[in-house]
Amino acid sequence: MRDIALSGGGGLQVLLRELRPVVVQSQKAAHGALTSLFQRTRFDTTCVLLDEAERSKHLLNGLEKACKEALLGEDARALCPEVTVSSMLKEWGNALLKFFQFFEETSSKPVEQGVLYSLPSDWWDGALSDVTKPISRNDELVFEFLTLGRNEFICYFIRGVCLSFLKEVAQEGGEVSSVVKAVCEDTLVAESAALAIKSRPEKPLIRCEGCEKSAEELEPDTRFMVCSTCKAKLNFSLHYCSQKCQKDDWCMHRMHCGKKAVSKCLPGTAGDIIWGAPQLPAFYREQFNLAGGGPVDLADLGPGTPQFVRSAALQRQAAMLEADKAADYFLFDASGEPVRVVIDEHIMKAAFRFVRMNAMSRAERKMSEYFAQYLIKVMGAHPGLGRDVILRQFAEEYGDDVGEKLEVLEKKLPGEVLLERMANGLTKMGPRVMNLIQKS
Ligand SMILES: [Zn+2]
Ligand SMILES: [Zn+2]
Repeated sequence: MRDIALSGGGGLQVLLRELRPVVVQSQKAAHGALTSLFQRTRFDTTCVLLDEAERSKHLLNGLEKACKEALLGEDARALCPEVTVSSMLKEWGNALLKFFQFFEETSSKPVEQGVLYSLPSDWWDGALSDVTKPISRNDELVFEFLTLGRNEFICYFIRGVCLSFLKEVAQEGGEVSSVVKAVCEDTLVAESAALAIKSRPEKPLIRCEGCEKSAEELEPDTRFMVCSTCKAKLNFSLHYCSQKCQKDDWCMHRMHCGKKAVSKCLPGTAGDIIWGAPQLPAFYREQFNLAGGGPVDLADLGPGTPQFVRSAALQRQAAMLEADKAADYFLFDASGEPVRVVIDEHIMKAAFRFVRMNAMSRAERKMSEYFAQYLIKVMGAHPGLGRDVILRQFAEEYGDDVGEKLEVLEKKLPGEVLLERMANGLTKMGPRVMNLIQKS
């Protein structure tokens, strides 16, 4: 940090004259580092696949560099509230990505033309509008000086973060380089995973347990109340939008109130097992033969519309799954009692439902042996179930050849469960994807 004398408009004018070309250089360097980062690391995919601690490390490196090298040093941080490690870590790294993309887009032209660039900010632009009386020439100069200081600091920060990432890629062996390598090896899968993570909600929704509406669907000033007995005794929050809703729901809630944490498990709320599951990119809609548009929710991956005549047993299975969308499958034990299967882990759930939809709706009826194999592994030891019982059910549902197909599969991949392999494959290109998704 250099010494700056702010006394007198004349001195300030001289200082500004010196400073402008310095900041132009600095923004050019930041823009160049950013371009290089995006090109060399496929940063738009890599950024969200990285572990949070890893992202945090590089952000801190950038911040440290900016505090050390920028003209105003650490003091400039007060001028850029948008540049904090905590804000950049939001949305699974997506906030950092958006900030970088915004900078790159908006600075391209000024950098090309070699003129001064100022990061657009409502907060900063509004700083002068608070002043009612006409501002003096000196105030104007001070404002320009601070704007330059702010932008110089932001440029140092961006350049510092980029160089920190790039340095690790160049050295190889680090976390960043292993993710970059995996992303380059299987770009399509990595991009899908990154898109899915970007769509992942940060928090579960709050819905009224009575009318089932979320904050967005209610009047803007609605304040949720929680059942105080459940909160006090169970530390469990059951939300209501009004006293009326709480009263109406009492006939249902009274049997559990204060005794057991039971909610309606409304979609998107903490009780909904897939609230934290990322959406799959829209192109899966075609692959899964789904109507409508936009990204695909796990809940959309039902039994599907059959392209063949389902057996009576498979019709019953489909009806049970349609009626209970949180269930992944129903097995029937030796005495014919249904056993409800729910897969907790999101990637596995997605792989299972993808395969299930194929088997239950595609004319080729492929893949039924895949999930027979998985269910035998995870449910085979359940009382009343076992390989034979499960295979008998699958034969009724999908045809007598399921057992044979399973044997072929087992020969092809001895000791492996194909569905697990599919799920693991998703995690390979981003070593942290699984952890990220499981942090719900
Ligand atoms: Zn309500
Ligand atoms: Zn209660």
